[in-house]
Amino acid sequence: MDTVSILIVDDDDAIRFLMNEFVEMVGYKAFMASSGEEALEVLKENVVDVVLTDIMMPGIDGLELTGKIKKIYDVEVIVMTGYSGDYSYENAVDKGASDFVFKPVRFEELLLRIKRVLKERRLRKELQKLAITDGLTKLYNSRHFYHQSEMEIERCKRHKHPLSLLIMDIDFFKSYNDTYGHLAGDKVLSRIGWIIRSCLRKSDSAYRYGGEEFIALLPETGIDDAIPVARRIREAVEHEAFYPEHDEEVHITISIGVTEFGMREKLKSFIKRSDDALFCAKQNGRNRINCIMPQIDIDQSDSE
Ligand SMILES: [Mg+2]
Repeated sequence: MDTVSILIVDDDDAIRFLMNEFVEMVGYKAFMASSGEEALEVLKENVVDVVLTDIMMPGIDGLELTGKIKKIYDVEVIVMTGYSGDYSYENAVDKGASDFVFKPVRFEELLLRIKRVLKERRLRKELQKLAITDGLTKLYNSRHFYHQSEMEIERCKRHKHPLSLLIMDIDFFKSYNDTYGHLAGDKVLSRIGWIIRSCLRKSDSAYRYGGEEFIALLPETGIDDAIPVARRIREAVEHEAFYPEHDEEVHITISIGVTEFGMREKLKSFIKRSDDALFCAKQNGRNRINCIMPQIDIDQSDSE
């Protein structure tokens, strides 16, 4: 696991150095800042897990700093104060702080609080990951697809960059399931999920869209560059051997609809067009790729 890094923010030199010594002694990586402004500079340049900040500081105070940090960064904040009456726990939590300690800070207590905050952070990240992951294939789920595609479309419109979409459907999957059972079918789904991911480039993302349907989003990619990706997937699936029963080698194929985003359209029509392209690929005999461009249809059937 990566080393935990902690940013200590306090205008009091003695406290700052003492805390720094303690944090490093425990084995964490420490950064120091003597003001809120300086803390924001440190965060610009470094990855930090937890910020420990004093509240009373000239310039940006600890609460304001907490608010600013939580708006921009995925960082935990623990606030420290010497004046217990001035600020309430609610004030700090309102700004997004994860915890609150009183000065003089007892190091043992602080360490426990840091550990608890880190544990909650880990759990939260795991939950966030689970919420967007398809359990069987480990690809992203359809909920995450809608979120990501809206984001990609916004980016696409802003920068006038192309964006392509592949919709893939396993051919005759129902009959495979009926013949070999659902367990064997699940193995196919998870293997094909893996194949799809391995055929994509780093900036692409893959999703399980429905039962045996998959989607890939290809940012910064026009149709001419999306087709080779689709072809790679189609061929890799075709070449993969499955053994649902002893000694029986079974091959599976996939049909793929490809389209590029048309700058004025909505997500719905973008998906609909790639669905139409997939439908054509199915109609034309399966195990093939079909493309439909926005407005102009191009027949780019791809099969031996
Ligand atoms: Mg102070």
